[in-house]
Amino acid sequence: MAKIVIDPKLCCGSGRCIDVCPEKAINFVDGKAVLDESKCDFDGICIPACPNQAISFEEDLSGMGCGF
Ligand code: SF4
Repeated sequence: MAKIVIDPKLCCGSGRCIDVCPEKAINFVDGKAVLDESKCDFDGICIPACPNQAISFEEDLSGMGCGF
């Protein structure tokens, strides 16, 4: 399942992701955007809102083996 990740090194603290998130799943912690996965519905609206490309989908491949 894809999940949303926020790279704190790229977060510029604009807060635009916080403004657009309908679930209020992003908060500032020490000036950086931090995702609350319990609220996020993974619609990805926040991804294009970030002016610094700090937010992206990440495939969670845990639990998927190669078969060997
Ligand atoms: S994916 Fe959707 S619900 Fe999750 S943080 Fe981004 S805008 Fe909010």
